Amino acid sequence: MKALFLAGQWRQGRGPAARSIFPADGSVNAEFSTASTDDVEEAIQAAHQAWQDPSWRNSLPVERARVLYKVAELIEKNATELAALQTRDNGKPLAETRGLVMSAASTARYTAACLETLDTELTNARSREWLTMSVHEPLGVVAAITPWNSPIASEVQKLAPALAAGNAVILKPAEATSLIALELARLFEEAGLPRGLLSVLPGKGSVVGNAIVQHPLVKKISFTGGTSTGRQLAHTAAERLIGTSLELGGKSPTIVLADADLDLAVNGVIYGIFSSSGQACIAGARLFVHSSVYDDFMQRLVAKTQALRVGHPEDASTQVGPLIDEKHLNSVDAYVRQAEAEGGQILTGGHRLTEGELAQGTYYAPTIIAGLNNHASVCQEEIFGPVLVALPFEDEHDLLLQANDSVYGLAAGIWTENYRKAWQLARALDVGTVWINTYKKFSISTPFGGFKESGVGREKGRLSILSYMQQKSIYMGLSSQPDPWCEG
Ligand code: ADP
Repeated sequence: MKALFLAGQWRQGRGPAARSIFPADGSVNAEFSTASTDDVEEAIQAAHQAWQDPSWRNSLPVERARVLYKVAELIEKNATELAALQTRDNGKPLAETRGLVMSAASTARYTAACLETLDTELTNARSREWLTMSVHEPLGVVAAITPWNSPIASEVQKLAPALAAGNAVILKPAEATSLIALELARLFEEAGLPRGLLSVLPGKGSVVGNAIVQHPLVKKISFTGGTSTGRQLAHTAAERLIGTSLELGGKSPTIVLADADLDLAVNGVIYGIFSSSGQACIAGARLFVHSSVYDDFMQRLVAKTQALRVGHPEDASTQVGPLIDEKHLNSVDAYVRQAEAEGGQILTGGHRLTEGELAQGTYYAPTIIAGLNNHASVCQEEIFGPVLVALPFEDEHDLLLQANDSVYGLAAGIWTENYRKAWQLARALDVGTVWINTYKKFSISTPFGGFKESGVGREKGRLSILSYMQQKSIYMGLSSQPDPWCEG
């Protein structure tokens, strides 16, 4: 059974054994041990000691950056194996997991470069008798809790800035994808990260995750996952008066205006919803198309969707892989059945795929539903699967009201040749990221996060390191005269 990584030691956890399952055929990738609450206690105590150790606490940015540069190099060196492992863990096609691995490497490298160039400020003089400056201190032990859909990318997005800032991190990966997190721990260890600064503790969210976030020595919760779990963690953080970074769910609108380049838009909309089988918080799940191009657009969209290659994720030509597991597939299917019950019309898909080798896995046909309005449950709730709901619109003002009529506010797509309109719409949409004539593209230097119930805080960008630090102001007296106040 695979060991967990507790304060620099590879050893069996004291929680129940767990298994990583390959979604393509249900085979067991590996058995691994999970943490007990005693393991959590031990890891957090060790983490607390490690971040306070002067060798880390007083380390220079360049020294911490060196570890991250090395991590980036090791991720790239092991990219093929890491992508293969990620595919086994969550069933994403190899082409996608390769992209996630490379993104993890660039996150580590970019964060290292930011760390080396992050200068603190010396404020303007307010007096001749003293000066002030502002420095940033680490927070202490940070909890990083991650989901199964893009683990290596989301994990490095948390580990790199948190460690760069001088903290220690306890990583609790999703139950389904613990193997990749353990491999990451191996690379951080090989890169020379001092013992104790990182522990990877697989286990159930309600047990291991909960024990971590409740611990008094944990000073920040950095979470990516579902909105209901995020809300629960925000309650815990409020109670404990610690900070959070919450990357949560979405129900992102994609908008095709009358003047859009339809060829470009068809491909972008398909990629936006069906890549990763729709298991992405940013999936473009609500499609608004101007009524003047609706029929033409939908015809092309359905034809192209039907031509997508759904198949084994280890096959290089596969575009759409399986869903993570049976339970999730049933939940996706239940949404589709509900859409039908509410009067929705299935234009393509709408069922599990069981032909040939697909029968062994949890495959769902890319699905497009029409005939509903934005209040239907499939337009309001996050399905996290390959299900697109199409809605025609006439009037752009009404479109904006509908697009913003969601508890979520993660992302949006706009397809138009008119950049003036695109800009106005982009500013008016209540979302954290807008893609214009493209979709689901990422830059590490561009902050990412949600409006409304899609989250709190931003990840990525130059300032991500500072989100794992707290500011301290220091006043330095320059006068050699005793303070006159005491002189009566
Ligand atoms: P998803 O729907 O993507 O699985 P979840 O929010 O259920 O999203 O899970 C994301 C991560 O949060 C996982 O690592 C999971 O184990 C963890 N988690 C779930 N519940 C809790 C909890 N109560 N406390 C801490 N972590 C949790």
